[in-house]
Amino acid sequence: KQLLAKRVKTLTPSSTLAITAKAKELKEQGIDVIGLGAGEPDFNTPENILNAAKASMDAGLTKYTPAGGLPVLKKAIIDKLQRDNGLTYQANEILVGVGAKHVLYTLFQVILDEGDEVIIPIPYWVSYPEQVKLAGGVPVYVEGTADQGYKITPSQLRDAITNKTKAVIINSPSNPSGMIYSKEELAELAKVAEEKDILIVSDEIYEKLVYNGVEHFSIAQLSDAIKARTIVVNGVAKSHSMTGWRIGYAAGDKDIINAMTDLASHSTSNATTTAQYATVEAYNGSQETVEMMRQAFESRLEAIFPKLAAIPGFKVLKPQGAFYLLPDVSEAAAKTGYASVDDFANALLTEANVAVIPGSGFGAPATMRLSYATSLELLEEAVNRIETFVKTKW
Ligand code: PLP
Repeated sequence: KQLLAKRVKTLTPSSTLAITAKAKELKEQGIDVIGLGAGEPDFNTPENILNAAKASMDAGLTKYTPAGGLPVLKKAIIDKLQRDNGLTYQANEILVGVGAKHVLYTLFQVILDEGDEVIIPIPYWVSYPEQVKLAGGVPVYVEGTADQGYKITPSQLRDAITNKTKAVIINSPSNPSGMIYSKEELAELAKVAEEKDILIVSDEIYEKLVYNGVEHFSIAQLSDAIKARTIVVNGVAKSHSMTGWRIGYAAGDKDIINAMTDLASHSTSNATTTAQYATVEAYNGSQETVEMMRQAFESRLEAIFPKLAAIPGFKVLKPQGAFYLLPDVSEAAAKTGYASVDDFANALLTEANVAVIPGSGFGAPATMRLSYATSLELLEEAVNRIETFVKTKW
């Protein structure tokens, strides 16, 4: 008998893992590798949040919670959505889950039937296609090209919609491009979604990491009608440097949230209780550290962007949010003798000792992703190494 189910036959491991594993191997051999693969802030979780977690444990609050999340946390999330986004939700429209990633997984499980299509803009976060496929859905890719600022247009969206389309994913600010859809752009996309009667999955996990005066706008803010067809997904991983705590949430239609809650009741029971109490403090407490981290990312971006853009054969748009740079390095790869950006990225690791993520995993094989969630000193050294590598081989 076959050991594995058909469902996992086409499952590909996260593309970021292969190069990260190789970087780790080199480090263990004593080689000084600079890792720019990180998908998480390099700051510790703020002190007030750690203290709230400790206090909840000391008070004995370590038992199961309701499957959809602690009422006190749902309240904190409702207040956050009102305060930051001007969005009004009731408790039965909120699900707290094990990180935004698992919330998205649960969402696709409850909205997709076999063969339902989900529109995924390129470049995309690696988990969207796999999660859609695991739910029996079919990813339909629409390319946001570099000259469109790595964003899709309303006519591209319209052309991709069939009678099987269930939803479109909007990730703004975007991982990996760092691009942000303006209110006007979102309005145009939403109009198409409304006209064609599809759901909008709005992944806003990088909401707080926006730079140079650009503002985050949630597509659900456009109107009550748009809000009704949007599921907002967010969490504290990136905003509060809480990646390991695994708390995310969905806000949207109560029937969808109810089904997600029922599914969670049979899969996770609840997100970790201590982490939920920590998140109550993350949202109700001071937001000063959130802003401090944002400023640190912004100043790194300002320092490193011009240097990266000046490397021969690198074409890079200035990101507006998140903490990634996504240069098109196809020319640099070709001029230095590599057949693909994958090979170029591999050589950067083994010869220049800088670990980056090749864009092939994001559907954008001309690009590579560099994370600036690391110290300025290391970033500058990494960019110097890349520049020397390119100039030497050109
Ligand atoms: N969505 C995007 C676009 C991400 O980049 C990530 C994390 O890398 C997530 C969701 C998942 O966040 P969480 O850590 O809350 O699961």
